[in-house]
Amino acid sequence: MTSDLEAQLRAVSLRVTRPRLAVLATLRDHPHVDTDTVIELVRADLPSVSHQAVYDVLRALTDTGLIRRIQPAGATARYETRVRDNHHHVVCRGCGTIADVDCAVGHAPCLTASDDHGFVVEEAEVVYWGTCPDCVTKRSEGIS
Ligand SMILES: [Zn+2]
Ligand SMILES: [Zn+2]
Repeated sequence: MTSDLEAQLRAVSLRVTRPRLAVLATLRDHPHVDTDTVIELVRADLPSVSHQAVYDVLRALTDTGLIRRIQPAGATARYETRVRDNHHHVVCRGCGTIADVDCAVGHAPCLTASDDHGFVVEEAEVVYWGTCPDCVTKRSEGIS
């Protein structure tokens, strides 16, 4: 497992460090978590790692495309290791839970804008907003 993550770092010419490996492993196991949660989870393995170190790792991994930063309007930034497949997200307005949604009509058509205004389009981002099953249940039970 670890050697696989090491290979990912080497492929983008990043030095293999324990914080980088820990952040990658955390995001692989916990997609769509925010920075505070990443810090908390990484510290379970590496208690001495600083906030700044995790911020720096997240930036380096995002810049090299190993992880993707998503930020639904009004929400904190989340990170995930599922990159370069143009998938979308469904976000719960109640609790902020995020789930992956595959491209609605396959890869290329989903990138075809009805009018691209002459731009070369390389990514399409769709956010589906709604209420997750847990929140629907709570609401119908009158809990929230
Ligand atoms: Zn919810
Ligand atoms: Zn995702």
